[in-house]
Amino acid sequence: MSVYLDNAATTRPCEEAVAAAVNAMTVAYGNPSSLHRAGLEAQLIADSARKTIAASIGADSSNIVFTSGATESNNLALRGASAVYGRKKHRIVISSVEHASVEETAADLETKGFEVVRVSPRADGRFYAADFLEACSDDTCLLSMMLVNNETGYILPAKEVFSSVKRRYPGIITHCDCVQAYMKIPFKAGTLNADLISLSAHKIHGVKGVGALYIKKGVRLQPIITGGKQEKGIRSGTESVPLIAAFGAAAGKLQHSIGERYERVSGLRAGLLELLKDTEGVEVNSPEDGSPYVINISQPKRSEIMLHFLESRGVYVSSGSACSKGQQSGVLGQFGITGKRADGAVRISITAETTEEELKIFADALKEGIVSVRG
Ligand code: PMP
Repeated sequence: MSVYLDNAATTRPCEEAVAAAVNAMTVAYGNPSSLHRAGLEAQLIADSARKTIAASIGADSSNIVFTSGATESNNLALRGASAVYGRKKHRIVISSVEHASVEETAADLETKGFEVVRVSPRADGRFYAADFLEACSDDTCLLSMMLVNNETGYILPAKEVFSSVKRRYPGIITHCDCVQAYMKIPFKAGTLNADLISLSAHKIHGVKGVGALYIKKGVRLQPIITGGKQEKGIRSGTESVPLIAAFGAAAGKLQHSIGERYERVSGLRAGLLELLKDTEGVEVNSPEDGSPYVINISQPKRSEIMLHFLESRGVYVSSGSACSKGQQSGVLGQFGITGKRADGAVRISITAETTEEELKIFADALKEGIVSVRG
């Protein structure tokens, strides 16, 4: 039996998502751009998913562009917006704890003449709107910050930051990577004050390889993939209707239970921390008021060694973020978690389907590893 506690890396597709994908592969397999009936059927499926996803963030279908995942959504947001709005304004402001798909894209734009300002948390490990405001200027075209950090679960004050920045600099385009918040922490595009929002399906029990970018009405982006002008010309390429259908099914299933699942996951998190409370050498890295879905702890052994030990006990967790393939991403350091504490960081990421028994198996295995493993 395996205990899967790496849901911030990816989740198990729900039955509804799988069924929707299979239907779009076996029955409604037309190309949504085709003008015949089979094409129309596929288009209706994609449109229905678009409507569900749009509604779930308080948006209209016309605001949603499907992509191959949040990595592409983040690339489209940063590259597409900076190409349009950065002709005269050369500064891009991001937080220092962004996912690689924002950080590396910003770093690439830096080599192309943009000035990238990275705002760090203060010594207390928290971000402040005043610091983002100070980093912005009349020369700034874009501000990008995530809502929930994927490594620690820390909730960034995106709404407050975007509102104060928009008040002073209405021309700055605001982008929010909401991948780890979507269907977990309630937010709406309007109240978040984000012009662009990135979403990913496989973090919400959809299938890997599809995501979305919310684009506020009136905001223009230069496409990064050109071709047949699908998705209103913003993202060319035949839409992956099976993956989109699965995305819509997963979102449709989860959209009404955000509060209920939050309660359950908060309880699971509290239970886990209680189990680990008196364990020698275990420290909690996630803030108390962070997303309960991500629990980052440090323990005395090196992360990879502990990961492998846990794996031998059938338990799957992660060190830092899976995307960095075990390398320390520097994000923990930004939150003040450095040295041995960073070396021993383990990320447990749960869902509402996680059980108390599974967390007990993890806690027991961790304790066993702490006393028995060398490293
Ligand atoms: N942003 C965040 C915060 C993430 O956690 C991830 C997934 N690790 C991504 C972006 C990239 O998403 P995708 O896998 O859909 O490209």
